[in-house]
Amino acid sequence: MASWVSTLLDSAIGRWCGVPQAAALLRPAGESQCFKGTVLVCGKASEHSVLLRQHLSCLPDVAFVEGADTPLQAIIFDGTELQSTTELDLLWQQLHNLLPRLDINGRLILLARTLADASNADAAAASAALSGFTRSIAKELGRFGSTANLLSLDYGVQQSLVPVAEFFLSKASAYITGQVVPVRRARVKISEWQKPLQGKTALVTGAARGIGAAIAKTLTEQGATVIGLDIPQAEHALVALMQQLEGKPLLLDISQANSAEIISDWLTQQGIKLDILVHNAGITRDKLFHRMTEAQWTQTLEINLRAVQRINAFLLERQQIQQNGRVVLLSSMNGLAGQKGQTNYASSKAALVGYCQFMATQDHRGITFNAIAPGFIETQMTAAMPAIPREVGRRLNSLHQAGLPEDVAQAVAFFARPDAAGLNGSVLRVCGQCFIGA
Ligand code: NAD
Repeated sequence: MASWVSTLLDSAIGRWCGVPQAAALLRPAGESQCFKGTVLVCGKASEHSVLLRQHLSCLPDVAFVEGADTPLQAIIFDGTELQSTTELDLLWQQLHNLLPRLDINGRLILLARTLADASNADAAAASAALSGFTRSIAKELGRFGSTANLLSLDYGVQQSLVPVAEFFLSKASAYITGQVVPVRRARVKISEWQKPLQGKTALVTGAARGIGAAIAKTLTEQGATVIGLDIPQAEHALVALMQQLEGKPLLLDISQANSAEIISDWLTQQGIKLDILVHNAGITRDKLFHRMTEAQWTQTLEINLRAVQRINAFLLERQQIQQNGRVVLLSSMNGLAGQKGQTNYASSKAALVGYCQFMATQDHRGITFNAIAPGFIETQMTAAMPAIPREVGRRLNSLHQAGLPEDVAQAVAFFARPDAAGLNGSVLRVCGQCFIGA
């Protein structure tokens, strides 16, 4: 429900005072998430833009346009062949006239090579410039509800680029902007956009409410069978949701020392191996560090971090996560940026990033590990904040609004897709390009 502060800021008085107003974001709403609309591909043509063009032209509602004045739903700028800083002028020469044609809720996707693949210092500088450009233009496009993201491609990336580009073109990425997303080489078979998770089994912790409930719903909509885990006190909400989704409830406090063993034994009894494991359960116990009790510190680290490590270790050891499975961890923007009163929470959420990035470097039978760092998302966790910091938290991003649990859920479902193998060790911020943060 809107507070008096948000009503005031959204009123004529707020507009008169120059408070930036948010554009309504178009979200998937249960329909196919496939991108529809007009696309213009520019930059310096390479095998990457050729591949994307080939793939997108097979989609039913996509039209490629050149020149002319047609409004554009998406622009793809291929910067992978930019070899020197003088070629950066292409950004101005091409995008300066094109961006005004980008529709409300439009998409700008830039492609670059990773810095590690640059052949000389000039090429490295040109590649890095694209990230500065993307982050800045995202701040300019945000007031139209449009997004700009940069896909940073490893040498030899081919098919694994396609699903990533499609996701950033689609409505499913409505609250993700200003991001640099590394895409790795991987052998992938492109999944169907309708129910890409068909036949998969997912365990979601903290599924009774908020972001976890949205993740459970979205994974189910996309074809997965969901096991929802939550604390015994959340039984009523969890059981009701699992009945609605035809999933299975698992009541357990993951901070129990033997929680990993209990989950593992339960899976064995049910004859289930997981394809997708989403570590969403998390708590805040905010206090300035000098006032923080030991219990507030340890409980936060136990639930947000150590339980995750224990559960993964146990399930990996017993091979209860399938080959090419997907593990998704819920970090937080406050873990990346730090937050007063959240030394415990930020330590746990930053630790998840380090843990995820290390796990991605190890050979785990094709299982990928990715993290999502939500910014300000409308849930009971953020509803508990005082009105003014809550309003500031909502608006301090390029899209001038809070995200919804569904925005995070869409990102989780994307990482969970079989063809998202090119993403491993990524940290994706679902934050509308929060102004605070690393
Ligand atoms: P929430 O408090 O609304 O829901 C968290 C769920 O986790 C609850 O259902 C709760 O019962 C469950 N849970 C807590 N402790 C548990 C335990 N010991 N064992 C099993 N389940 C447990 O929170 P939310 O806002 O939906 O956040 C979900 C995740 O996203 C958390 O990890 C949170 O840190 C992260 N996150 C949220 C935001 C936001 O703006 N809401 C921002 C950044 C990160």
